[in-house]
Amino acid sequence: MGWYPSGLRGQDDGAVLGGLTGLEIGLCLALVLGALGWWRLVLALRVLEQAMARLARDELDAPVPGLGRGRLGRVGAALEQVRERLAQRRTLLAENRYNAYLAQHDGLTGLPNRLQFAVRIDAAIAAAQADGGQVAAVMIDIDRFKHINDRFGHEAGDAVLRGAATAAQAVLREGEALARFGGDEFAAFKHLRGGADELEEFLDRIERALCAPLDSHGATIRPRVSIGLSLWPDDAQRREQLINNADLAMYRAKAGRARKRLRYDPEMDERARRRGALVDELAGACARGELAVFYQGQHHVDGTLLGYEALLRWTHPQLRAVSPAEFIPLAEEAGLIHELGDWVLREACAAAMKLPPLLSIAVNVSAVQLTDPGLPHRVALALRQTGLAPARLELEITETALAVNRERAVAVLGRLRALGVRVAIDDFGVGYSSLDTVSVYPVDKIKIDRCFIADFVQHPASRTLVSAIVSIGESLGVPVLAEGVESEAQLRLAQELGCRAVQGFLFGQPQPLALILALGQAGTLGARRRGAG
Ligand code: C2E
Ligand code: MG
Ligand code: MG
Repeated sequence: MGWYPSGLRGQDDGAVLGGLTGLEIGLCLALVLGALGWWRLVLALRVLEQAMARLARDELDAPVPGLGRGRLGRVGAALEQVRERLAQRRTLLAENRYNAYLAQHDGLTGLPNRLQFAVRIDAAIAAAQADGGQVAAVMIDIDRFKHINDRFGHEAGDAVLRGAATAAQAVLREGEALARFGGDEFAAFKHLRGGADELEEFLDRIERALCAPLDSHGATIRPRVSIGLSLWPDDAQRREQLINNADLAMYRAKAGRARKRLRYDPEMDERARRRGALVDELAGACARGELAVFYQGQHHVDGTLLGYEALLRWTHPQLRAVSPAEFIPLAEEAGLIHELGDWVLREACAAAMKLPPLLSIAVNVSAVQLTDPGLPHRVALALRQTGLAPARLELEITETALAVNRERAVAVLGRLRALGVRVAIDDFGVGYSSLDTVSVYPVDKIKIDRCFIADFVQHPASRTLVSAIVSIGESLGVPVLAEGVESEAQLRLAQELGCRAVQGFLFGQPQPLALILALGQAGTLGARRRGAG
């Protein structure tokens, strides 16, 4: 038998079925089955190839088509498990990376955080050590950021932080870095290789970028910043100390009225220590009888006595007289101001009861007190306990106090005025937005800050300002008092410019009530100022 199809052979062959022998049928079947098996293998290999290609392309999210249908049997199931595991690992890796990113960056601005800043400034210090340079650590705080939040909303506050961060980061150069430490606090450093100009240029550049005006919710916000800096190695050898010193300098800059950029000075440490000690001692000062209320006259420009301002005095056993300008902010920070304020209020109301009934009594109310919804109740209590007529009490409030929490301040002021108590704006002109203050809040008196009066005889600019404030007062029907009048020339000028009332050393220093009563000053309505008869 040759190797050719048997069907070509004669029909007479009895073993033929359909022209094929059993062997041939077997062979054909084997061929077909083989081809089928081969085809399945090709398909399976193709699925395998696709699966491997997808794994290689990192497409791990969805199962590979064909694997699930079992074309690859156990191999397919194993591959599917590999894919799932890889997908899980990738997610985990991404999460870990994100966590690692978050651990080193600030979520809102994307800037490095305190941790990452420490790593970078350490590297800068090491580099400066190698090349004999310096490192400037800079702490930056946005002034009145809370006011921006309160006034324009938290979204606007966030936009300011993001905008400032993006703008400042864009101007950074080699050897410099910027970080956000939280809230409205930023930190920066520069590896200095040149002179002082290099540092000034860096600070100017950062400040300009951080303070760029920003449009948000229909308003233009112009942030301002306070900057503190300290230099490695002159001001501190260690990183923590370097940053702490810059922070201390920043707080000093913030507290000051004029300098918004300060370099650390060892004297600041002494001040910080003194502040801590004073807070501890202030807590018990009232009980130890170290506190007293003094009274300073407020006069009509013609010399008539109108009333007194109550001014708190602290005689410390060792330090002697501590200025309220120093201890009132400490009392605010330590939460002691409510108790102190209540005590002054009661003392002042009681003192007013001993003075002629036409004289008013002015009491200073701090920003922290004004945000306390319980204040009107406590004022009413002091009036009731002492029997003072509400119309004789005037509360002096600074513009800054009004700006701290606008809504709450408006509500508290409304309730105070409803008691019949009068409200004066103290230290007017040095706040954030003076015009805004008097147009929004109904007040009964404007007190021009003494810094304008101090130099208005010599400086036309201060005169212009005083006269502008008087015009504002006139247009609102509110009398204006000039604070800090020390000379006849200042008194004459205050009168000429239209101030209705004056207060200052020309008329007398703040004095204890007993002395005032003993000298009989209060009894004489229309009392002449000192030296004027
Ligand atoms: P203030 O309310 O503006 O008080 C006027 C300050 O100017 C007083 O300083 C007063 O002694 C001073 N002064 C008055 N006349 C003159 C003058 O002719 N020349 C100069 N250079 N200064 C003059 P003082 O008593 O040191 O108080 C400082 C600040 O401390 C006050 O400023 C007030 O803001 C705050 N303060 C004082 N007592 C209290 C209080 O009981 N409660 C609160 N919350 N603050 C108070
Ligand atoms: Mg005052
Ligand atoms: Mg004042």
